[in-house]
Amino acid sequence: MSGLDSPPPPAPESKAFAAIVVAAGKGVRAGTSRPKQFVVWRGKPVLRHSVEALANAGAHPVVVAIADGAQDEAAASLDGIVGVRFIIGGTTRQESVRNALESLSSDAPPNVLIHDAARPILPPAVIERLVNALHANPGAIPVLPVVDSLAVADNGMMTGSARRENLRRVQTPQAFRFADILAAHRAWAGEPDAGDDAQVARAAGLGIALVEGDEALHKLTFAEDFMEATAPSIRIGSGYDVHRLAEGEDLWLCGIQIPHDRGLAGHSDADVAIHALVDAILGALGDGDIGQHFPPSDPKWRGAPSSRFLTHAVTLAQQAGYRIGNADLTIICEAPKIGPHRDAMRASLAALCATGQSAISVKATTTERLGFTGRAEGIAAQAVVSLLLAR
Ligand code: MG
Repeated sequence: MSGLDSPPPPAPESKAFAAIVVAAGKGVRAGTSRPKQFVVWRGKPVLRHSVEALANAGAHPVVVAIADGAQDEAAASLDGIVGVRFIIGGTTRQESVRNALESLSSDAPPNVLIHDAARPILPPAVIERLVNALHANPGAIPVLPVVDSLAVADNGMMTGSARRENLRRVQTPQAFRFADILAAHRAWAGEPDAGDDAQVARAAGLGIALVEGDEALHKLTFAEDFMEATAPSIRIGSGYDVHRLAEGEDLWLCGIQIPHDRGLAGHSDADVAIHALVDAILGALGDGDIGQHFPPSDPKWRGAPSSRFLTHAVTLAQQAGYRIGNADLTIICEAPKIGPHRDAMRASLAALCATGQSAISVKATTTERLGFTGRAEGIAAQAVVSLLLAR
């Protein structure tokens, strides 16, 4: 017995598969000269995510179709992954896939998965479903239901509708028996650039099974995802505010009204805690301060509930791709006592920040009767907030 020296037993024939990853696009993000498949996203190049997932699932080899001239960058992006081969893609996606298939034909695998590099997150369960579906079908593709209703558009007008129950959103990888898809690509006489390999397979009369896809497989787009490629995953901001205590004013703190003998004076409802929190969010975004967004000179904000400022700041954060990670607020005053209102304050801020109450801390301190807060002339608040890149 020399088990230690023996190679591992080969995978069962029907389970063996090669993979093709199409990464030949030259699309570049505004302001950079790098094609998007090489941009570092979530800690590694976009291309590396799916190639690793395929290799880890047993794909061998993984043929990566790249643009001529991208060899060095592609090799650096996939350094250390076993079984990767590069081929130069064609002028269209279909040509690139055809070239990759031809490169495999001399040592043809039983099955092949064809994937687009622009879908970096590739759950192993999807690969398993696809490979299993090839037992009974020459092709299999991952699909998702359509949840929105559908309109047929013509020149900016709705001219009809479509039954979403009969439609599916198609993802990659798409799985095929190798000989069948190679023959289908060789026979393809449709549009120069087929939308995907399932179309090529269908044109050749192959049966294509639908298996469950995964939302995680979504295609990276420039608008949101390339902001994410360069945006930090966490941003921190701090804010500070003071308002004067005055007779005849209501006291608003953290979006709730607190019974007290005096209230805070200011142009809006003078909710000093929310103002500090809004400045912390704007600070984290590097987007000015509350006075800039809601000028006291603008009569529109006279007596305005400060909750509107906070929801506006949270919306700005969301538009930049962030959500509130957590917020830590300190209210500085001799009176009123904050403790009895703490949970209501946290609930109020959590709702306005679109987050859970556990993400919101409200603390209070006095200043030992020192200074303006100690003399109860005013209330101060400071806030620290973290913003997390959404998704
Ligand atoms: Mg203020």
